[in-house]
Amino acid sequence: METSRSRKLFSQAQALIPGGVNSPVRSFRAVGGQPPFIQKGKGSRIWDVDGNQYIDYVCSWGPLILGHAAPEIVAAVQQAAALGTSFGAPTEGEVELARLIHEAVPSMEMVRLVSSGTEAAMTALRLARAYTGHSKVVKFAGCYHGHADGLLVQAGSGAATHGIPDSAGVPAAYAQETLVAQYNDVPSVERLFETYAGQIACVIVEPVAGNMGVVPPAQGFLAALRRITSGNNALLIFDEVITGFRVGYGGAQALYGVTPDITCLGKVIGGGLPVGAYGGRRNIMEVVAPLGPMYQAGTLSGNPLAVAAGIAALKALQQPGTYQKLDRIGALLAAGLTEAAQEANVPATVNRVGSMLTAFFCPGPVASYADVQRADARAYGRYFHSMLERGIYLAPSQFEAAFVSLAHTEEDIQQTLKAAQEALKG
Ligand SMILES: *Cc1c(COP(=O)(O)O)cnc(C)c1O
Repeated sequence: METSRSRKLFSQAQALIPGGVNSPVRSFRAVGGQPPFIQKGKGSRIWDVDGNQYIDYVCSWGPLILGHAAPEIVAAVQQAAALGTSFGAPTEGEVELARLIHEAVPSMEMVRLVSSGTEAAMTALRLARAYTGHSKVVKFAGCYHGHADGLLVQAGSGAATHGIPDSAGVPAAYAQETLVAQYNDVPSVERLFETYAGQIACVIVEPVAGNMGVVPPAQGFLAALRRITSGNNALLIFDEVITGFRVGYGGAQALYGVTPDITCLGKVIGGGLPVGAYGGRRNIMEVVAPLGPMYQAGTLSGNPLAVAAGIAALKALQQPGTYQKLDRIGALLAAGLTEAAQEANVPATVNRVGSMLTAFFCPGPVASYADVQRADARAYGRYFHSMLERGIYLAPSQFEAAFVSLAHTEEDIQQTLKAAQEALKG
């Protein structure tokens, strides 16, 4: 496999950019080796600067549910760009994207657009604190909500793979306001509410954990969070940055039938451009400036290009059969991987919700962060590189989700499974 151009670029990048990358997991530290530099993508495929072609299961970490360079996204961005890239004034597209989000996720009675999932989650916490007057927040070990200070506590993938439980530079005083419970463990949440009665503003959760690898919510887990928060004057925040418009058009809250007070979105709603959103009940959102006392702003918030891409993505997802197709392709991949691992006598457990899945290199069930940590990350690293050599681009870490898009075909899956059979036999 030719890698000379990528190697050259990576060495130049390392001199100028920390680790040579603008987001840590891209550096391949967790699996070893050097990342290919990507030149272009089309549909389910990407090409690196050395001309190698891959079937892509990272899909930009979730946003590209239509695949790469989807014609409707490219056209929408081109049209918007020709009319001006930013105004810092309201535009029609923002109203349309807010309306589409509200119609899909009715609990988001009002929506504020921001530029990243990090910004959405960070602001959702500020809003929960402003609304309740309480200061502590509960998150789950292994759940990631972006890199805002108070949320970088036991924050999953990046931290899990890099062995950094908390980031340097987060004041202890902030971290103390963040209480950590165990995913799928209701008593761990109840204990925090007993110990810190009257002090907790919110529980924030990935309704399907994606950033420790995919771990679905246990039966009744989300409903229990709803009951506990409501009973303690605390808000329930669903961080649906991955799951929103991914596990279904209405997100995880529609799939599991549990309604949060505040929802965070990102990834899919930007169609591959930088967008995030937070929203919730009207009386909560009325605390946001200029209606209320909680400040939040953004020079590029509701950016016309990003909004145009987001609208195009959501409209494409409204086509009949979309989520059935995503589910069918995801199921085909999951079943094939399970079978390939069995044939190769490799202990593996595939967790999947719709088009997001993780093959953990350990016996199942994988239902908690403790279970996740039993996975053999070294074995994953070897598998990862064998797959890369065979033209399959997986997440460069055991503790991430793989994503299939509407552009992935049954032939792509067959080709992937053939590679997996060979790679697992090693
Ligand atoms: C990706 C992600 C974020 C952060 O979004 P960015 O756009 O990377 O800032 C927040 N929460 C979850 C659940 C995510 O997966």
